[in-house]
Amino acid sequence: MAPSAITPPHGVQQTSELTTAAVARKIAETAPELISNGVKTEMAPRPLDASKLKFTKTTSPMSVPQPGDPIIMTASQCTDHMITAVWKASTGWADPELRPYGNLSLAPTASVLHYATECFEGMKMYRGFDGKLRLFRPDANCKRMLVSSTRISLPAFDPAELEKLIKAMIAVDGPKWLPKPGTFLYLRPTMIGSGGALGVATPKEATLFVIATFMPPLDAPTGMRLLASTNGVRAWPGGFGYAKVGANYGPSLMANGEARARGYDQVLWLLNGTVTEAGASNFFVVWRSKEGKVQLVTAPLDGKIILDGVTRRSILQLARERLTSGQSGLESLEIVERNFTMDDLVDAAKDGRIIEAFAAGTAYFVCPVAAINYKDEDLDIPMARGNSGDYAHLVKSWLTNIMYGKEDHEWGVVVPEVEDK
Ligand SMILES: *Cc1c(COP(=O)(O)O)cnc(C)c1O
Repeated sequence: MAPSAITPPHGVQQTSELTTAAVARKIAETAPELISNGVKTEMAPRPLDASKLKFTKTTSPMSVPQPGDPIIMTASQCTDHMITAVWKASTGWADPELRPYGNLSLAPTASVLHYATECFEGMKMYRGFDGKLRLFRPDANCKRMLVSSTRISLPAFDPAELEKLIKAMIAVDGPKWLPKPGTFLYLRPTMIGSGGALGVATPKEATLFVIATFMPPLDAPTGMRLLASTNGVRAWPGGFGYAKVGANYGPSLMANGEARARGYDQVLWLLNGTVTEAGASNFFVVWRSKEGKVQLVTAPLDGKIILDGVTRRSILQLARERLTSGQSGLESLEIVERNFTMDDLVDAAKDGRIIEAFAAGTAYFVCPVAAINYKDEDLDIPMARGNSGDYAHLVKSWLTNIMYGKEDHEWGVVVPEVEDK
């Protein structure tokens, strides 16, 4: 058989679109089970298989911080266990393990330490008011993790297997670490290029891990203050802003730190004046268009500049279902995914057409925006309810109800727990 460097795997076309072709090749080579015409031979690498999960429970359980413990603010306290799974180019995925939380051991030559071969997900586990443990649309996070991993030459995997691993871990740690109704813990599925080899090359080894941490609620009670960045962009056409890869975040920390030093909460990222995202959240504005229509507007996905947020998608879908025909008691909205500029926002603010704005993402949840600074001028954003706009408030309550089981909805996925006290 010809080496794959010459003959692309079945279904991968020769094209000058190198990144697209490389992602298709990565999937064909590392998770042929995902493509219907993929090669199913004895040579196929072992797939990620949650049914092979090996359990090693901790013998030195940690104590759970009580509410108000300062460690919660540091987002460093993890639960007793973590999931790990190691992939090797030669063999595929080894059996995943649930094992005591602890340090990883990496060669100083590990790919991730030099070339940012890292991607992650951010999700939460919720203790419902009915006592049940839930995830919110975990399938969407696991699918996005596949988009991210293959974008940076890490292996493909079946997202449904990752979802099972996440559930297996929280089934074990949920009862002890998240007992109180109405609370959450943050989950961080991560993949890194862990093989030791200093060449600038596709990692031959990867490690997937899933940890759960305490995280303070980040939604600002008095509204978020944003500082629009006029120099420095987060993402660009042809780049990788749509992937949740570590390389998108390290370089953005300086602008974020500067915004904080000036009394703002987050950077509003612009691209040639176009409004893209707020920090690590998607940005929404509700305004009255010049034609007089009330619109919910957010940046589109098609340019692959912004992160395809699960919260963003969920808000758009709920808004389409529940806010477009007056049934909510609020004025009906037109839902618009399109590019808009900071100048559009300034114009709308000057005309008094801005109704509200908010940021949305797992970490910040639905967070009303109180002000946006652009070129040294603060635009005050109305908040009809004092601490929030009406639309953000309503959408937030809908999502909260789904996450904590007050509304029975297919997005709120109940996770059965392991009882061993
Ligand atoms: C994670 C993230 C979001 C929000 O995505 P969710 O799936 O809603 O949590 C938005 N923008 C960026 C840049 C992000 O990293």
